[in-house]
Amino acid sequence: MTSKINRRQLIGAIGGVSLTGVLGNESFSAQTVISNSGRNFETEILVCGGGPAGFAAATNAARLGRKVLILERYGRLGGMGICARVWPLMGGVQSPFVKEVHDKIGGNGFDPERADLHYADLLEQAGAKILLHNWVTEPIMEGNRIVGVKTVSKEGIHTVSANLVIDATGDADVAANAGVPFEMGREGDGLVQPMSIMFAVEGVADNAQYCGSEEAARATSIDNNETWETVTTRAQKNGELPETVGVVRTYKMGRRGKACVNATQINGLFGTKVEDLTNAELQCRRQVFQIVDFMRKYFPGYENIYVSHMPSVIGVRETRRICGLEQLKREDLVSGRKWDNAIVREARFSLDIHNPAGGGQAENQNQKQVQGTAGKVKPYDIPATCVIPQKIDGLLVAGRCISGSHEAHSSYRVQNICMAIGAGVGTLAAVALNDHTTPANTDMKKIQKILFQ
Ligand SMILES: Cc1cc2nc3c(=O)[nH]c(=O)nc-3n(C[C@H](O)[C@H](O)[C@H](O)COP(=O)(O)OP(=O)(O)OC[C@H]3O[C@@H](n4cnc5c(N)ncnc54)[C@H](O)[C@@H]3O)c2cc1C
Repeated sequence: MTSKINRRQLIGAIGGVSLTGVLGNESFSAQTVISNSGRNFETEILVCGGGPAGFAAATNAARLGRKVLILERYGRLGGMGICARVWPLMGGVQSPFVKEVHDKIGGNGFDPERADLHYADLLEQAGAKILLHNWVTEPIMEGNRIVGVKTVSKEGIHTVSANLVIDATGDADVAANAGVPFEMGREGDGLVQPMSIMFAVEGVADNAQYCGSEEAARATSIDNNETWETVTTRAQKNGELPETVGVVRTYKMGRRGKACVNATQINGLFGTKVEDLTNAELQCRRQVFQIVDFMRKYFPGYENIYVSHMPSVIGVRETRRICGLEQLKREDLVSGRKWDNAIVREARFSLDIHNPAGGGQAENQNQKQVQGTAGKVKPYDIPATCVIPQKIDGLLVAGRCISGSHEAHSSYRVQNICMAIGAGVGTLAAVALNDHTTPANTDMKKIQKILFQ
C-alpha cells in the first residue's frame, strides 16, 4: 500500500525502515538506506582495491585455485590509469604476467576506455569475484591478525571474512587502520609528491611536437632559440601559468590530433585528507583551462586544441608507505640490487619526484637549475619482505603503498611495476594458503618458478 508521508517523516524514518510514499508530485520507494544490516561475504583471499596492483594480485591468486574476492570503491577497475586517466603505462619489468596484460590491452599506449574491461575479463576467466562500488572502511581484527574488513555500499555496511587480505588501495587504507606502522612524505618536511588532474586535448596539428619529460622540454626547440622549457618557465614567472606548473608534458594518444597532458599540480596537500582532496580537485581543474590557454598561445600546432576529457577523480601520486619487514631504498635502485626472495625482477623506471615544494622535478634540482632531472636506476628487484607488513598477520600489501623510501617509491609507483608487484603478491598469497604456511615462510623458489618462467 502506498501512504503519503511528509519530508520530516521521511527524514525521521531514515535508519533502515522500509517505506513507500509520495513526496511532492513524485512517488518513491525508500526501501534501503545505509544501515548496519548489510551482507556477509566469505572468501579465502580478499583484495582491497582494483588498480593495476589489485587486479593483478586477484587474477594470479585465483589462477592458483583460491577463492578470491576483489573490492573496488569506484565503478571501474584499473585504478589511477582508468579513473584518474593517468596514461600511458610506464616502467619496465621482467614479468610474463605484465607481458600477457600488454598483449591483451595493446601495450603501454592502451585504450583507457576499454582496458578496465580487459582487466575484468582476466579476473572473471580466473574465477575471481568482482564487487565494484564497495568502499573498504575498516579491518576486522582478532588480536594482531586481520580476519576481514567492513565495507560500505549503497546496500549498507557489509562484512567480508577472509583467510588473507591484500591491501592494494594505493593509500594502505586497510594496513594503516589495522595498526601497521607507515611513513608518509619525504624526510625532513614530510611533504608528498603533488596531486594532479591529467587531461586530454584534441585538435593538435599533425606537425606539432610532443614533449614528455623535463629532459625533452630542455631539448625541444620552438623558435627564436627558445625551448619548450624556457617558454614554460617564463610563463610560470609572469603569471600566465600557475607557479607550481613548471613542466607541461604532452603524450600523443592513439587518435590523430589527440594528446594527453600531464601538467597541473598542487603542493602541500595530502591525498588522505578530505579537505585537501576537495581543494586539489577544484584548483587543478581550474589550472587545466589556464594551461590550455598557454599552450594555444605558445606551442606551435596546439593553437586549436580543446579539452576533450577530464577524469572524475584527481590523480594521487604518493600517500602512505607501509613499514614492512624490509624497506626498499634509493641505493637499492641505483645499484640495481638483486634479492633471493624477489617477487619482482628487473624493475626499471627513473627516480621521478614531481617537486613536493615547487614546480617541475625535485630530483637533482640545484640552485642553478629551476627544474631537476629524474635520476637513473639500474634494473632492480623488489623482495617479498617489502610487501609483508610489520606487526599484523594475515595481511599483504601490493602496489605503490609497499615498504619503500620516498625516493624508491618515486620509481616503483608506475603502473607496470605496480602490476608486477600485484602479480607477485597474489602468487605469494595463494601459495602460502595452498602450503598451509605464512607468506613470510613460503618457499620463494616455488613462487619465483610460477612468476618468472
Ligand atoms: C597525475 C599522475 C600521473 C601519473 N602518470 C603515470 C604515467 O604516465 N604512467 C604510469 O605508469 N604511472 C603514472 N602514475 C602512477 C600510477 O598511476 C600509480 O602510482 C599506480 O596506478 C599505482 O597503482 P596501485 O594499484 O598501487 O594504486 P591505484 O592505481 O591508486 O589503485 C588503487 C585502487 O584502489 C581503490 N581504492 C582505494 N581506496 C579504497 C578503499 N578504501 N576501498 C576500496 N577501494 C579502494 C582505488 O579506487 C583504486 O582503484 C601517475 C600518477 C599520477 C597521480
